Amino acid sequence: MAGMMVVFDFDRTVIDDDSDRWVVVEMGLAPLFNQLRSTLPWNSLMERMMKELHSKGKTVEDIAECLKRVPLHPRVIAAIKSAHSLGCNLKVLSDANQFFIETILKHYGVYGCFSEVITNPTLVDGEGRLRIFPYHDSASSPHSCNLCPPNLCKGLEIERIRACSSDNGEKRFIYLGDGSGDICPSLKLGEGDNVMPRKNFPLWDRIRSNPMLFKAEIHEWSDAEELEKILIQLIHETSTERQQQGS
Ligand SMILES: [Mg+2]
Ligand SMILES: [Zn+2]
Repeated sequence: MAGMMVVFDFDRTVIDDDSDRWVVVEMGLAPLFNQLRSTLPWNSLMERMMKELHSKGKTVEDIAECLKRVPLHPRVIAAIKSAHSLGCNLKVLSDANQFFIETILKHYGVYGCFSEVITNPTLVDGEGRLRIFPYHDSASSPHSCNLCPPNLCKGLEIERIRACSSDNGEKRFIYLGDGSGDICPSLKLGEGDNVMPRKNFPLWDRIRSNPMLFKAEIHEWSDAEELEKILIQLIHETSTERQQQGS
């Protein structure tokens, strides 16, 4: 089968919106969020927002109900299901958090298509409050990448996935993303890999300004229809090449 590794950013890639922004706006946290924005790193700010919701009597179920209203485009759902059924190994690599991503993917019935969701971990504490923790602990194990926020270097994770996957024959990567946090992992891709930057978003801008830095083949997309079409085409092309090479 296809035997490819397909890694998706989540916000503005899998979903067209941003899950953090969605919860902040829909649950009435925008004024506090904006007030604190300059004082806290993003990850800590979201943790603070969850504390605020808890103090207002909002439960984890309320947050889940809010997340289930996030639209997930039918063409993206179809793309995920097709890539999975074609034998690709699918992962999410995101600076959102486990609870938000899991809730949305499960709601649309595609969580099982992913072998892993790599993101900031969450738990519900004894008082019923949703806690969000950094993926990398910047105090005990800082990642030393100056392209990425302290809580998550996606490039390091691409290297880790690659180290594990070379045993399984999943050597070809397709990476889909939009944001500045997707620059570092895109730089880690090599020849034979593909990067799918969302057109007119920060990753795309960065690639356009210095394409020679990126070794992977570049395939831009704008919307869910294009994402599906290009992704499935790339999977077919790559698996045909692999068959011809007998690998
Ligand atoms: Mg994104
Ligand atoms: Zn990095």
